[in-house]
Parts: sequence; C-alpha cells; structure tokens
Amino acid sequence: MRQLSILSGKGGTGKTSVAAAFAALIPSKVVVDCDVDAADMHLILDPRIERREAFVGGKAAVIDTGRCNGCGKCRELCRFGAVREDFSVDPIACEGCGVCVWNCPENAVALVEDGSGEWYVSQTRCGPLVHARLGPTQENSGKLVTIVRNEAKKIAQERGLEYVLVDGPPGIACPAMASLTGADAALIVMEPSLSGLHDFRRVAELLAQFKQRGWACINKWDINPDLSDRMEKEAGTMGIPVIGRIRYDAAVIKAQIKRLAVVENGASPAESDMRALWGRVQNEIG
Ligand code: SF4
Ligand code: SF4
Repeated sequence: MRQLSILSGKGGTGKTSVAAAFAALIPSKVVVDCDVDAADMHLILDPRIERREAFVGGKAAVIDTGRCNGCGKCRELCRFGAVREDFSVDPIACEGCGVCVWNCPENAVALVEDGSGEWYVSQTRCGPLVHARLGPTQENSGKLVTIVRNEAKKIAQERGLEYVLVDGPPGIACPAMASLTGADAALIVMEPSLSGLHDFRRVAELLAQFKQRGWACINKWDINPDLSDRMEKEAGTMGIPVIGRIRYDAAVIKAQIKRLAVVENGASPAESDMRALWGRVQNEIG
C-alpha cells in the first residue's frame, strides 16, 4: 500500500481537479479529503455516507450560575473576552485555556468538550472516501486530518487496496503537515503566476523539512509558458522535478458541473494530460 499526498501552496491551483482525476484513474485505492476546513472532494465524488463519527477538537468553559457569586474574576482574567456581562461564556470566543477554571473562588467553571465537526466513511463510484466537516470557527484541523488519514489507512489495509490518495489542504499549516506525515510521496500542483511560484517555494521547503520525496505538476501551464519554464527550472533546482503539465481546458469546469472528474467526461486536452501525469506518478512511485 502506498500513500500519495497531493498538495498546493494555496487554494485554486486545481489540486482537487488532479486528485479527482487520479481517484477516477486508480483502480484500487481509498480517497481521503484532508482539506477539512473547506472540503470539496465530495462535490465531485458524490458520496453515500455509510458511517459518521463526531469530532471533538477542543474544550470550552461553562459557568454554573448556581455556584457563581458574580465576583467578576473570570471576566477580568479572560484574555479572549469570552465571558459575557451576565457571566455566561461565548463558546466561539472561548479558547479553552482554563484560566477562569483555575481562578474561580467558587469552583463554578468547568471545561467541557466542544463539538467541532464530523467525519465520514462513504462509498462512491470511485471506491471508498473518508472525509470530514469541521464546524465554523473550529480549530484543531490538524488533529482531524490525522484521524481521517488513519481511518483511510485502516480501510486500505483491511480491504487490500493499493493506494491511499490524499487530497491535502492548501498552504503549509498544521493540516498540510498532517497530510504529509507518513506519505510515500507528494505531488505539488502549481499554477504559472508569480504568487503561484512563491506558494510553490513554501510547500517545497515543507517537503524538504519532512525529507519527503515529491514531484510537481504545472496546471494551466499554457496561460504563461515563459513562467512555466522558469518554474520548472526552479523546481528542479529544489529537488522537485516537474513530471507533468496540464493545459488550460474548459472541459475541467464542464466536468465538475456534472460532478465528474475531467477524465470521466470524454476526450479533451486536460483529460489526456491528467492521464499522462498519472502514468508518470505511477512510474516514479514504483
Ligand atoms: S470567577 Fe467564578 S464566581 Fe467569580 S464571576 Fe466568574 S464564575 Fe462567578
Ligand atoms: S477558558 Fe480561557 S478563554 Fe475560555 S472563558 Fe475561560 S479564560 Fe476565557
């Protein structure tokens, strides 16, 4: 079993289009959507949820008004302004730091688990999908990514699947790190723009920190061929060879409107480029 993580320096580079194409092309795999803050793989794979589990990522303070004497110490000490005038707690503002709990003279405050979202095991036309939904303003998405990745790995082992295909989050924060840990290889999707080059460098540095093997592909390379050449050269010098280029193609959007990956929607330039890219990844990953 091999784990392949697909990453990008920022959103909107076409990372999920590539991941969805691979999901349709790889016969034996489980897909895991690790972009838990803005999950979108389900929009293409149209999952049927078979199992749902609650995710509790943090804690929030609750004040027992029966015990509270109204001294105001908790309000005074809370750095996040989470204690209201009536000594109730705003669960969105509360960071669960526990300062109010330790300083309340009446032991009137407790930290309780704060519901943060759900994760799911689903069936799709492309095989199993593990995905999640993180509640608004909720944190700890790195922890949720680790949970869905572990579940996907377990499914792959139990069912004898060849690949865990990880659609990672954009950027380089905790969820991206959690999407890389333990992967066999990573594919960075980049776009030919100056900000795209800057974002690529940041992900490439993350791979270097993790001593992670990886390659890159340039999506919509033909909208700026000169910059694409420059990006390919720079990626090579950073030890991340560009192993594919995907042409700009309206067929990608047309397929997504039909909730399909571009490789499921007939012949087109992007369809052919995605197939070639998967062929190269397959050869490289061994
Ligand atoms: S510190 Fe305790 S007793 Fe004082 S206002 Fe807050 S909850 Fe009430
Ligand atoms: S737990 Fe921390 S953030 Fe939450 S109300 Fe208490 S002091 Fe404020």
